[in-house]
Amino acid sequence: DGAFLSVQDLRVQFTTEDGVVKAVDGLSFDVARGKTLGIVGESGSGKSVTNLTVLGLHNQMYTNIEGSISLDGEELIGMPERKLEKLRGNKMAMIFQDPLTALSPFYTVGRQIAEPYRKHMGVSKREAHLRAVEMLDKVGIPNAKMRAEDYPHQFSGGMRQRAMIAMALVCNPDLLIADEPTTALDVTVQAQILDLLRDLQSEFGSAIVFITHDLGVIANVADDILVMYAGRAVERGSTREVLRRPEHPYTWGLLSSMPRLSSDVDVPLMPIKGTPPSLLSPPPGCPFHPRCTFVQEVGGAACRTDRPALPEGRGAACHLSAGQKQDIFIEQIKPR
Ligand code: SF4
Ligand code: MG
Repeated sequence: DGAFLSVQDLRVQFTTEDGVVKAVDGLSFDVARGKTLGIVGESGSGKSVTNLTVLGLHNQMYTNIEGSISLDGEELIGMPERKLEKLRGNKMAMIFQDPLTALSPFYTVGRQIAEPYRKHMGVSKREAHLRAVEMLDKVGIPNAKMRAEDYPHQFSGGMRQRAMIAMALVCNPDLLIADEPTTALDVTVQAQILDLLRDLQSEFGSAIVFITHDLGVIANVADDILVMYAGRAVERGSTREVLRRPEHPYTWGLLSSMPRLSSDVDVPLMPIKGTPPSLLSPPPGCPFHPRCTFVQEVGGAACRTDRPALPEGRGAACHLSAGQKQDIFIEQIKPR
């Protein structure tokens, strides 16, 4: 089928001194070439662990991984590290929130961008250096030619972030995983970076997984949205569907905290109370039930005892019936 990246029933568990952490608990999603999937959730929802697992960067020793992650038809789970390393940087690349995890203090910025390009494309050092300068220029670093000779510590935080993005994009990856890539950047630079990702995508048909807690960013970049909570997907659909007519109370809460988005979305305004659950001992039933306003609505104990399933395709993992949701919307939304 059309999926370039296909994740099926992924389970990631860490063994800690206190017990087993179910960081990802039965997650499935597909991303086609040329498409962007936005994964949304609070920190601790499992979105970053998912991304590291796809890239093969989790700590293998205390980690148990089950399920399937296939990239262009090749299974990544259990793939030898040497082979994975070849894929990273060539076929798949990543942008992290913290540029210092990607940049080495010991080499110039230009060299760090040029080196993977030289390796993967088999070009001369000079050609690779020119490409590095071009990339620095593309991500909006002024005086790129000169700045390529600087070390990361000579860059500001925002410039380091952009240098890391240049490094991730230099080999035109088929799959790009971006984890909160623009959070630290000001709005103008943020827009510039998002444009750059779109260019990459239209030129090379890259598949992009964009991980963020910010639905506002997702609205601008993603074709599809997956909302994660407590290591599980709780809602999925096209960006348009999810933002126009969100179906999960957690998504309603996320949207409520974003006045700019929620002002033109029909969504009950209800900030989310409390904190995400511990993944050491997640609540039984619906993992969102300790924070959900609608447990009574469902009646009985379903929310506290039965884990709601996420339907295939468009939908939400919630026991509320379509009729109950309709009533909630009618009650909560003032007519316009
Ligand atoms: Fe809320 Fe129950 Fe739906 Fe979970 S299943 S989101 S607790 S209404
Ligand atoms: Mg994170």
